[in-house]
Amino acid sequence: MKTQVGIIGGGPSGLLLSQLLHLQGIDNIVLERQSRDYVLGRIRAGVLEHGFAALMREAQCAERMDREGEIHDGFYIAHDGIKERVDLNGLTGGNSVVVYGQTEVTRDLYAARDKLGGIVIHNAEDVTPHDLESAQPYLTYRQGDELLRIDCDYVIGCDGFHGVSRKSIPNDKITEFERVYPFGWLGVLSRTKPVSPELIYATHERGFALCSLRSQVLSRYYIQVPLTDRIEAWSDEVFWAELKRRLPDSVAAELVTGDSIEKSIAPLRSFVAEPMRYGNLFLAGDAAHIVPPTGARGLNSAASDIYYLYHALVDHYRKRDDSGLDGYSQKALARVWKGQRFSWWMTTLLHRFPDSSAFERRLQATDLAYLFSSQKALASLAENYVGLPY
Ligand SMILES: Cc1cc2nc3c(=O)[nH]c(=O)nc-3n(C[C@H](O)[C@H](O)[C@H](O)COP(=O)(O)OP(=O)(O)OC[C@H]3O[C@@H](n4cnc5c(N)ncnc54)[C@H](O)[C@@H]3O)c2cc1C
Repeated sequence: MKTQVGIIGGGPSGLLLSQLLHLQGIDNIVLERQSRDYVLGRIRAGVLEHGFAALMREAQCAERMDREGEIHDGFYIAHDGIKERVDLNGLTGGNSVVVYGQTEVTRDLYAARDKLGGIVIHNAEDVTPHDLESAQPYLTYRQGDELLRIDCDYVIGCDGFHGVSRKSIPNDKITEFERVYPFGWLGVLSRTKPVSPELIYATHERGFALCSLRSQVLSRYYIQVPLTDRIEAWSDEVFWAELKRRLPDSVAAELVTGDSIEKSIAPLRSFVAEPMRYGNLFLAGDAAHIVPPTGARGLNSAASDIYYLYHALVDHYRKRDDSGLDGYSQKALARVWKGQRFSWWMTTLLHRFPDSSAFERRLQATDLAYLFSSQKALASLAENYVGLPY
């Protein structure tokens, strides 16, 4: 097969780029290792920046998001038995976020790809990029016993943290920056009314907790747990009891509990690979960087990469202008690092670190006290949370 842009990975990054390019008449093929059901079974992000929402509209995929997604003008931080509101709308001069699950985003993107006849090849095994430094890179993959080949102008690595794209870059051509946190998030999805119409980020001496939601009938809750914990040790009852302990009494009293429909433990990690280009391979999204979920930057950082790449590829094919492609890595990384800083800061502010000293705990408490005593500090938090400009 031959195409202009070969995309590895059919998660939100790969599908969004595929759809945007298709609408501009740029040929592309997506190779996805998993089945569609598997991809749609993953429960992940839920808070979308307005910039992400705008990109979904440009991709003609926003009809359901605009109908069913919830606009959130603020969120709460709970500490010391109280909760204080961060007024995103007021602090940013009218900005907000959209609460709409990543699963739904992905479902809408698949539907849009199908409608336009986009090519997304599932169950593509052993996807391998070749000749990335040449002007004629190509991809090979297996389906059953058959080995197939796709020739393309560019390869885009949208295959997440564990994908093959980043690993195809020689070690001496890439630098990795990483911080692994000494805890994870235990997440529970349940068909219950959320305890609060807006998210509550709670810091407590027993550890962090987050009351999130996907809709007004679907709740998503998280608690900080040691990395050594096993999911089997957390029955629903034990989870709800621990969550309640970490919330202010007034919130805990309102919590509606029920059966979990998904439960998993995710480790927390900050990671960036530089540069995000090697020859004619471009990395985007989790393939190049991941953040701890505190602050909801992961999917949103992926979307800004896609925005830059999309415009760079359109300029290349439409105007023979390669400045966007040449500047992609630098431009994308500048924003990625701001998302990294913000996620690291929110994680540090709100979690209990097992090895923190009394001095560090005092600083943490002072950081929080400063935040709620300064409109400027709150405005900085809000500006980052709704998403910095592309
Ligand atoms: C528990 C949790 C909560 C989160 N909450 C938030 C949040 O609230 N807000 C936020 O912005 N972000 C959040 N994130 C992060 C967000 O989910 C990711 O940033 C997002 O999924 C990145 O999209 P992606 O398309 O780049 O990568 P992925 O979603 O990882 O997609 C990569 C795709 O590539 C495929 N693939 C992998 N290897 C290969 C291969 N060799 N060949 C072919 N295909 C391959 C995978 O199957 C996958 O479908 C959260 C993440 C987790 C785990």
